[in-house]
Order: sequence, then structure tokens, then C-alpha cells
Amino acid sequence: MDFLTDLPIVDGHIHYGHPSYMSGLMNVLDYLGVDRFNVVCTPHRSRLSLVPDALHLKAHFPDRVYVFGGLDISALFVAPERAGAVFADYVDTLLSLGCDGVKMIEGKPTMRKMLATPPFDGPVYTPYWARLSERGVPVVFHVNDPQEFWDPARAPDWARERGWCYVDGSFVDAEAQYAEVLNVLERHPDLKIIFAHFFFLSAQLPRLAEIFDRYPNVCVDLTPGIEMYYNFSAAPDVTREFFLKYQDRIVYGTDIGAKALLLTPDKGIEMGESRTRVHLVRTFLEKDGEFWLLEGGFLFGQRETPFRGINLPRSALEKIYFRNFERLAGARPRALDPAAIVAECDRLAGVLGIIDAAQPEMSGDASVAQMVKSFFQSKM
Ligand SMILES: [Zn+2]
Repeated sequence: MDFLTDLPIVDGHIHYGHPSYMSGLMNVLDYLGVDRFNVVCTPHRSRLSLVPDALHLKAHFPDRVYVFGGLDISALFVAPERAGAVFADYVDTLLSLGCDGVKMIEGKPTMRKMLATPPFDGPVYTPYWARLSERGVPVVFHVNDPQEFWDPARAPDWARERGWCYVDGSFVDAEAQYAEVLNVLERHPDLKIIFAHFFFLSAQLPRLAEIFDRYPNVCVDLTPGIEMYYNFSAAPDVTREFFLKYQDRIVYGTDIGAKALLLTPDKGIEMGESRTRVHLVRTFLEKDGEFWLLEGGFLFGQRETPFRGINLPRSALEKIYFRNFERLAGARPRALDPAAIVAECDRLAGVLGIIDAAQPEMSGDASVAQMVKSFFQSKM
């Protein structure tokens, strides 16, 4: 693809659903010119955690892979009132393994409902935010979803099909959740949070500007949400001004790997799907004028009108492509600790064994944790 190919690229938001995807993922990223990338780990229904997978990948490419570990959500089922204290200690655990930050998907409405997540600004989470603040740990935090998912008239078909239409009263209200998260920032303005998918405020740039002005450590990432690029394209001059003004607060990301994680695990990381994502985000940032998606993408729906690029100067692109992420997570990924990883894989396998015995329908699967444990044992 025809881009500023000499700029280093750090993708701040990639998913990695299984160790068998390793060579496929690296082929795709090499081809697309991605130097370094951040694996954001979400909870997994049968395996609990994808952190072992990500650490195994990092061990193979220690200079290229950052890992933002997911929390151990079993705490929300075992001792919900103490979950925040457990999460606080788990921040220490993730760092001890060699993770570079924390990924939270708990603010996605379906996830929040499934986990029965307590309010983010309530007493349960208090020790957790305090620990993140104390230790200066960066977090990629998914809060809410596109506004239209709460509107039966505007929710797209592809979102409905996945159960992402939040109008039956059983899901968190978007404004209530924004208020919770802003309360947390009010108490801990030093928190280094990257809100995924532009904090779902791409149609409300003045509102996001107020948040940026009030909380100087808040960032957002550019990971689609295709609606972001519709919204950005509606008024490219206004969007460009915003990107220039807040060029220190915007982090590049694509969601490469999301399709394999959520829809087609058997296909692994697909080149076409990944290239379409990179093309969308980079064409928008680097080019002037109209453009179209290269091909259909996962959760991209159908588009009748073109997108429009904002042709940012090189100095702003450098920040968005790598400097902002490096400022938050370091210029180099942190080192791994094989002994700590072995212990954590053991612990996870133990929890999965308990789940399997207690709830066979959830079928706890410890096979990856066991494989990763053996791998790191051989490194000790
Ligand atoms: Zn994602």
C-alpha cells in the first residue's frame, strides 16, 4: 500500500486468540509494515484468560510485542464485593509476568451485563483504580459502544445480529456509564487510560475536547468502530482541526485479530480483513479526498458513500503512529519473567479445573495454559 512507509508503526490494539495464530499474525503484520504492536487480552469463555497466549507470543518476539493483560474476571463470580481488591493485586501480578498494561472490556454493555460488573465509580473498584494510579499503569478501556446501538431505529443489522442492540432495559445506559468513568477520572486524574474506539464520541468532538482538556492523561484509540470513520468523514475540516489540536492524545489501532477471536476462529488472522483495516485508518489519516474500503470488513456493514481523508502532517502522524503509545507504555516492551508466568499458568489451570468440575457446561479448557507453562519452564 502507498503510505509513508518509513514511519514506524505501533498498532495499539490487536487481538490474539490462540497460539496457533502466531505465524499467520506475524506474516500479516510484516506485510503491512507494522513494527510493534499491543496485544489486548479479553476474557475467554472457556479458557478464562488469553494472557498466556499473548505472553507466549511476546516470548518469541520480545522487541515487537506489548501485552495489555485482561483482569481475572473469576473474581466477579467468586467474591464480587472484593473483586476490586483482587483486581488491584492482579495488576501487580500482570506487571510481574511482564505485561505492559491492562485491557478492560468490562465497559462493553454485553460484557458488563454478563459479568454483572459493579459500578466503576463504586466502592468495589476503589482499590483497583488506586493501584493503577500508584503504579502508573496504562489501560486500554472499552467503555460503551456506538450511540446508535441504544436506538432501535438506528442500530445496524450487523450489530443486532450479534446481540449488540441495547434497548430492552437489561443493559447499562451509555450516559450512566460515561458518568461513572468520569467520576473515576475526577478522583484519579493521573490515570493513563486509552479509551478504545475514540471513547465512542466521534460524533461528539466538542464533548471529547472538554474531556481531553480536563484530564490531560486521557487518550483515545483509532480502532474502528466503522461509525467513527463515517462521523469523521461528515466534516473532514472540523475533524482535521480536532486531530491537529489533540495530536498528543490519539493512538493508532486497528482491531486486527478481532474477527478470528469473535467470528471465525478456524480461519486465524486473515490478510484481506487485516489489510482493509490498515488501509482504512491510514488512508483516513494520510490522504486527502474521498476513498472507499478495500473490501468488506468484519463489523463494517455496507457503505453507500465514500470516506474522506484528513491528510495530517508528518509530525502529527508520528505521534499517532508511535510516539503517543511509547509515552504511555514505554519505547520498548517490558521483559518477561518465566518463573512468574509458570506460576500464573498453574494458578489459571487450577481455577479452570475448579470451573470444569463445578460447571461442566462451561467446560474449562486449560490446554493452552498447560502448553504455555511447559514452554516457559524450559526457559527457566
Ligand atoms: Zn478490540
